[in-house]
Amino acid sequence: MGLLTDNNFSLIQNYCLEHDIFFEKDVELSKVSYMKTGGRAHLVLKPRSSEQAAGLLGFLTQNGLGYKIIGNTSNLLFLDDVDYPVLISSAAMTDIVLDQSQGRIVVQGGALMPDLSRAALSGCLAGFEGLEGIPGTIGGGIFMNAGAYGAELKDKLIEAELALPDGSLRHFSLADLQLSHRSSVLRREASGSFVCSATFQAKTGDERKIFGKMELFHAKRHKYQDFMYPNLGSIFSGSPYRALSARDRYFKLMSAAYYLLNYELRLFRRESPINRRWLNDLVLKRFPLRYQHQPFSDKTLNCLVNRGQGTKEMVRFIRQMEELTSGLVPLENEIVEEF
Ligand SMILES: Cc1cc2nc3c(=O)[nH]c(=O)nc-3n(C[C@H](O)[C@H](O)[C@H](O)COP(=O)(O)OP(=O)(O)OC[C@H]3O[C@@H](n4cnc5c(N)ncnc54)[C@H](O)[C@@H]3O)c2cc1C
Repeated sequence: MGLLTDNNFSLIQNYCLEHDIFFEKDVELSKVSYMKTGGRAHLVLKPRSSEQAAGLLGFLTQNGLGYKIIGNTSNLLFLDDVDYPVLISSAAMTDIVLDQSQGRIVVQGGALMPDLSRAALSGCLAGFEGLEGIPGTIGGGIFMNAGAYGAELKDKLIEAELALPDGSLRHFSLADLQLSHRSSVLRREASGSFVCSATFQAKTGDERKIFGKMELFHAKRHKYQDFMYPNLGSIFSGSPYRALSARDRYFKLMSAAYYLLNYELRLFRRESPINRRWLNDLVLKRFPLRYQHQPFSDKTLNCLVNRGQGTKEMVRFIRQMEELTSGLVPLENEIVEEF
């Protein structure tokens, strides 16, 4: 579909003005998206309440206008040569309300997971420690049941309020949301529904222990995760190294020796290596991956980095890796195609 017609642009703009919904025009995604890629977004709409979100979805659906919901865009690869008509952002819905006595936290869909984790710490509620370093929103997190270091959103989630494309608001229980490893009913069915808020229930814990875990996970993440180049965390759910090993016996043997020496026995240094350059170079020798700019992080092959190579090259790498790993590791990052 690409850019909106002038008529549709005016129609949506007038709706937003009438309903007091924030919007931005002609947004350069390469400046504001997490990966720093993408063409323009003609309109980015930012509802501030569940009612506004539901009304907006109903209005767009009735008028046959396509849209894409976004959170912090930390899992989204927008394409350089695509202009997107309408993005609905949760950026104006970021409230977190904590009821310490009941062990309950009600969070709007645009609040960041690290903020939820820190709010839980301040209320001495345990079980959110692993979310501290995931740079996404609650809505984006529920969409893919985000998680790390033994904590997933589904562990403490009770229910969520969703705005549906028909303009209604509905409460989904944890069971309705069908959260599984990096997936949910929203992801599987590409439903176009918007997570307005979510309710979490947790038990009180020892503040020092909660703090200690958060510190540990933060330090580990800083060590193993690329933070030099724009990136979207893991490309695949699962280890592409293991999947490549299944394809090439020599690589399997050498990578097994690498892990044994560096991570198990730690013969060469007491700490595990912070990058896998040696192993990555071996991948490049054994598999037909040739690039002008290395498309992945030195810390791991499983992290696409933006070195200015453009999204055509990034998608080429993803597709090549999918072929080489024979579908053994599902794609976690989302390529936002034209709509
Ligand atoms: C450095 C880094 C580290 C990461 N580490 C982890 C990790 O440890 N564990 C992990 O699970 N993920 C990790 N991620 C990936 C990413 O942060 C998660 O996928 C996160 O859940 C995405 O949230 P978001 O708000 O950025 O969503 P976006 O990227 O904006 O959107 C992702 C999907 O969610 C949908 N969506 C977003 N908001 C809503 C909403 N309100 N209602 C309905 N649908 C919505 C979008 O339509 C889209 O399909 C990492 C990413 C980075 C960049």
